[in-house]
Amino acid sequence: MKRFASSFTSTLLSTFFLLFVLSSVSFSQTTTIGGVVRDSVTLAVLDSARVDIVNAANSSEHYTVFTNNFGVWSHTFISNGVDDRDGLPTSFSLEQNYPNPFNPSTNIGFFVHSGGTVTLRVYSVLGQLLDARSTTLTPGGYNIPWTSKGAAGALFYSLEMNGQRLTRKMIQLDGGASGGLGDPTLTHSVAPVSPSDRMLADYRVTVSKFGYEPDSTTVPLANNSNIDFRIQTIHRRAFLIDLHNDVMEIAVGGYQLGVRHTTNHSDLPRFFDGGVDAQMFAIWPSPTQFPSAGYARSIQMIDSFDVQVTRNAPLFAQARTSAEIEQVAASGKMVGILGVEGGHAIEDNLNKLIALYQRGARYLTITWNNSTSWATAAADAQSATRGLSEFGRQVIRTMDSLGMIIDVSHTGIKTIEDILQTSTKPIIASHSGARALRNHYRNLTDAQLTAIAQRGGVVGVVFYPPFLSASSTVNIDTVIRHIDYIKNLVGIDHVALGSDFDGIEVTPVGLENVTKFPSLTLALLRRGYTSTDVKKILGENYMRVFRVVCQ
Ligand SMILES: [Zn+2]
Repeated sequence: MKRFASSFTSTLLSTFFLLFVLSSVSFSQTTTIGGVVRDSVTLAVLDSARVDIVNAANSSEHYTVFTNNFGVWSHTFISNGVDDRDGLPTSFSLEQNYPNPFNPSTNIGFFVHSGGTVTLRVYSVLGQLLDARSTTLTPGGYNIPWTSKGAAGALFYSLEMNGQRLTRKMIQLDGGASGGLGDPTLTHSVAPVSPSDRMLADYRVTVSKFGYEPDSTTVPLANNSNIDFRIQTIHRRAFLIDLHNDVMEIAVGGYQLGVRHTTNHSDLPRFFDGGVDAQMFAIWPSPTQFPSAGYARSIQMIDSFDVQVTRNAPLFAQARTSAEIEQVAASGKMVGILGVEGGHAIEDNLNKLIALYQRGARYLTITWNNSTSWATAAADAQSATRGLSEFGRQVIRTMDSLGMIIDVSHTGIKTIEDILQTSTKPIIASHSGARALRNHYRNLTDAQLTAIAQRGGVVGVVFYPPFLSASSTVNIDTVIRHIDYIKNLVGIDHVALGSDFDGIEVTPVGLENVTKFPSLTLALLRRGYTSTDVKKILGENYMRVFRVVCQ
């Protein structure tokens, strides 16, 4: 009950409260369990975490308490008679926080373990008795309704049975003249539990908090020990793989991945902060800077990637297969996987495609904004009419046989149709949006989204504001609108993330760099996505494709 103390500000109230504590203690035999709930990574104490305590042999005996501002929870078991079922009133019209305000009525929930006469009394903060009711009850859970009576503000109610008394606080937002206690309603009946059974029982203790994975432990009540929890956010628990990041374009110029920067979007310290487990690093040979050296430039960029891997070996490793991704992630290192952006990198030569695969490239974006002799770009005026050449079909078939994912972001309409006719594997769009929401050639039409999904592929939703909206104010919700749209059209199994960080000069508000991925997870959860949905979007969907195509 000491968790109430922080809400008292005046000496008068404290004195009044103390009287209740003393009266409560003098009548009851108690066992208290409790502990501290912390974030598993930051070790910060977590307030408002819900702790459910359930008798393992009799699930109808169930208590709920919440951690206070210091992350502390506790629950006191009483050896006989009555106790409050949830530690708080139930059926609120307002959001549940402790203490729970109500307006104009609420239900006082409590639990009777053995039959008998229960007396419920309600007092004002000044100790004035507002209403009282005695009733004989069989074992079970009960609600007694309370309708506003007396002045607005804090009220206390006491439950008394067999000489044992419990006192709890509630907040009445509006005063009332004619209300008070109503008739008790049995919410669930139970077989009587004898005091000795309860003191020997095992209790399942489960802690849950918004944004966190629940955690449970079973404790023998007799143990009477501290039960501390370190719980992990859903974001940390999820495997996050982003489908597109262009930081290698600056790393080739000397930018160090192992150092924390205040410019750009990505580096290893910030990837760790953002809970990024794996990253597809784009190798993009600029067709304007290196018009006839796409392959050599790609190799130069891959060499610089290898240097970053070597320099940061304790933190970072390359993966080429799904088994390697799992091994590296399990070792606590960040996973780097290469993807080549732009078919011009292979210079019309299948041996160069194979060489890039051998260096670890696991997707090829079929075109960038520039068409090649064998594939047409989405930015090309002939996007809708000119597709793959015969050599282009050979490229696609070679990728299928190598185990290299076909990426159709930037790729033309007819070329995507031809790819779907030629390839037998799931394909992806590593960084694109939904064209129905933003009519931009870099986004995918409903027909394209449907075709990618029917093939078992995924779309990595891009973060680049001009692709997401015509508006100048683009934020996390704008990104989620594209996620929602694709999910509603083709299902949750085909949505992924393709930020394009360090390839974009502006970002959505709230997604300024790779440290902000946890905000996206929280926003998805607030929008009603389940933790299962979030894990699919963050990584499971893309990993499904990776396993099928790359092994
Ligand atoms: Zn791109």
